[in-house]
Amino acid sequence: MKFPILIPNIFDHAFTYDSDLKLKIGDYVIVPFGKSELTGVVWDEFEKKTNKKFVIKKISRKLDVPSLKKNTIKFLNWFSEYNMIPKGMALKLLLLSNNVIRKMSNEIYENFKIYIKKNKIELSKDQKSCLKKMNISNQKFRVHVLQGTTGSGKTMVYFEALKEIINKGFQGLILLPEIGLTGQFQNKFIEFFGFKPAVWHSGISKKNKEVIWSGFANDKIKVVIGARSSLFLPFKKLGLIIVDEEHDQSYKQDEGVTYNARDMAISRASFENIPINLITAVPSIETYENIRKGKYSKSRLDQRYLNASLPKYEIVNLNNTKLDVQSWISKEIIEKVKSHLEKKNQVLFFLNRRGFSPHVLCKKCFTSYSCPNCSINLVYHKNKQNLLCHYCGYKTLLKRDCSKEGECDFIFSGPGVERIFEEVKKIFPTKKSIIFSSDTMNKKNSVDFLKKITNNEIQIIIGTQLISKGFHFPNLNCIVVIDIDLSSQGHDLRGAEKNLQLYHQLSGRAGRAGKPATVYFQTYNLDTKMIADITNKDPDIFLDKELQIRRKNNLPPFQRFIALIITGSNEKELEKESYKFKSFIEGAVEGRVLGPVNAPIFRLKRKFRVRFLIRGRKSLKVQNSLAKTIEKFKFPTGMKLTVDVDPINFN
Ligand SMILES: [Zn+2]
Ligand SMILES: [Zn+2]
Repeated sequence: MKFPILIPNIFDHAFTYDSDLKLKIGDYVIVPFGKSELTGVVWDEFEKKTNKKFVIKKISRKLDVPSLKKNTIKFLNWFSEYNMIPKGMALKLLLLSNNVIRKMSNEIYENFKIYIKKNKIELSKDQKSCLKKMNISNQKFRVHVLQGTTGSGKTMVYFEALKEIINKGFQGLILLPEIGLTGQFQNKFIEFFGFKPAVWHSGISKKNKEVIWSGFANDKIKVVIGARSSLFLPFKKLGLIIVDEEHDQSYKQDEGVTYNARDMAISRASFENIPINLITAVPSIETYENIRKGKYSKSRLDQRYLNASLPKYEIVNLNNTKLDVQSWISKEIIEKVKSHLEKKNQVLFFLNRRGFSPHVLCKKCFTSYSCPNCSINLVYHKNKQNLLCHYCGYKTLLKRDCSKEGECDFIFSGPGVERIFEEVKKIFPTKKSIIFSSDTMNKKNSVDFLKKITNNEIQIIIGTQLISKGFHFPNLNCIVVIDIDLSSQGHDLRGAEKNLQLYHQLSGRAGRAGKPATVYFQTYNLDTKMIADITNKDPDIFLDKELQIRRKNNLPPFQRFIALIITGSNEKELEKESYKFKSFIEGAVEGRVLGPVNAPIFRLKRKFRVRFLIRGRKSLKVQNSLAKTIEKFKFPTGMKLTVDVDPINFN
């Protein structure tokens, strides 16, 4: 009998194989492919007749693991169509590597065994009422949004919801952004449930991945806390998906196979016909529009836990105070910070810029350090003693003789967190301070750092946006935003939304244990609409306004955007081809073709980049017409097209 087998590679179709085995859709098999053997899946209905002339190879064997569910296959097919990704690549997200399927002994799952604890945590009245709303029509697909102020105890509400699902024998998936630092979250989970969840992200070992993979396929593991890719685990009895911090932009996978994990989670829930809960303090604009239309139900927690109040906001006008040369912290702020420190409050200086300085220039020879591979300045990292490209990873030393008069004389323009750290050290030499960024927080030391911050052994934190991600620091009652003006730059259509989310999350770190807290914004620009928006207690006011702007300008979520990026190493040839490409797809695609324009980062990793934007209706027809057209366009060798459906970054 002939079977269509999908293989995890770049092909969009299944391959025909022969076998005498009794196989059904979803069975995992090993098949010969080229010179090697690959794991594949029986994908479609069996072919009744084949007129194919080529030799049909035989399936080597069937793997002993519960077969992939039909609904999951349907989901993967849809995923590939929506995101314009070959079906084989969608399967690759699920299969990970060629030999993920292994026989596991039963003891290996001992760690994940479930002992549901008698609940000691009593929900508040508000939390209970949210839970009740959340659990309405919990038997089938529906989307519920729990919108709650930072620190209002949203987690406990969805933990309760998940507990009920697990008690009924189902599996649960909790998606989280920034999974690498989930120590705090895991402890919270264990304290509530009494057992360990599986934790899934790109950093876990291959061995662990194999255990977790088969644990879910065999229904031996019940709950996973995971990054984007956990969405593709082969759940046998998935009963509930939770997307925490659903607004978080890091749910969007920008490189390689591009997709938005929040949106794909919603569609997986729909194919599995199970409920999904989106959790947030400020919903994303897409989610907000769906609530407004009544597509999603919603509950709201407005009161902070233990009746803690939200932080106050204060604007520090930098026009009135003179900053010292090479200094970024005003006298006014120093006084305020001192008084916070006297009260044993922890202080956070926020600047969303890694390293020491974003731009280095020699005033003797005017050499400016930019990346040889990208059209981007190199960032000086003093701690690492080098200049770094944040896009391609290029590294070089600062030391260089440029002029005949000897060594270069450098000007470092603008601060990064390392530079603020130096300034803080000078102003508060007796206080313990640390830098909280992706350069300093790694898996090894983060547990120790987080513990020290929680125990108030560290008085001052200098942090990038990494610190805005859901941490709970009970003593943090003062946040200083070094440069709010920096955030209002840029020309991103989502800029306003991104800022609102970032500063809302950031200020949510302050005042969580009930003490009064303040967020200070240093600014030269006093009539910024942005500060008014982010300091408004009710984010819905901003979201309503933003939706009006988006509707008026035909922007998402009212229209579908698809970004196309063509890259090539020859600038001239790239320009020529992109105009050829434009006339080729225009008219054939269901939507308007905007571009080509040079990408804001015109050169990246040694390739020049040109962008298009397709703007169309929210219909799969846009993707389908585009897929059909670009398939026929042959780019010269060395040129590459990348498709990004629902883009978030426009670099
Ligand atoms: Zn670079
Ligand atoms: Zn020089």
